[in-house]
Amino acid sequence: MKLLEERIQKDGVVKEGNILKVDSFLNHQMDVDLFNKMGEEFKRLFNDRPINKILTIEASGIGIACITAQHFHVPVVFAKKAQSINLDGQMYSTKIESFTHRRSYDVIVSRKFLTQEDHVLIIDDFLANGCAVDGLIDIVHHAGATVEGVGIAIEKGFQMGGQLIRDKGVRVESLAIIESMNWQEGTIVFKKQ
Ligand code: 5GP
Repeated sequence: MKLLEERIQKDGVVKEGNILKVDSFLNHQMDVDLFNKMGEEFKRLFNDRPINKILTIEASGIGIACITAQHFHVPVVFAKKAQSINLDGQMYSTKIESFTHRRSYDVIVSRKFLTQEDHVLIIDDFLANGCAVDGLIDIVHHAGATVEGVGIAIEKGFQMGGQLIRDKGVRVESLAIIESMNWQEGTIVFKKQ
């Protein structure tokens, strides 16, 4: 998506350790007009799928997921990060390895909000090593629901997440795929799509 690529080039900051900071428009301050265009694009890409629910993970996926949901007219459920899980049987849970924070944490979704009738579009801001998305897929499978696809704002194509998820037979659509980036020179190269 040209508009997103241009914005990343303009306002994204490459940090040491393969981190791209996009907090001026994506995951701290949020450009809602841009989110709206992204939501429109996700709708176009997944228009052929019978999506009735969007699943994301707190916190940075929520904004994009909500604006996207306005184009699908479906509810959004976000997986909550849990400090200690109260496993009372009311929750689906899975463990996720955090790329940015280098630790693992549990996420939970209430059984009330995900059932075998659901056809789910998973949305997140970044796809890096794929742990976050893989965990969300795991939760959808626990619920007996169907993963219709994964919509990502920025995929870091030089990390293994994209391949990991696509190899499971899941359709992944990323609005911008970064082929390479260099923090010393501040350069970002996108994959041609
Ligand atoms: P993964 O689980 O695919 O390794 O990482 C996905 C999660 O890590 C995303 O939800 C995002 O919050 C965070 N993340 C991964 N790479 C980056 C990055 O380069 N910049 C930022 N801001 N977040 C990232």
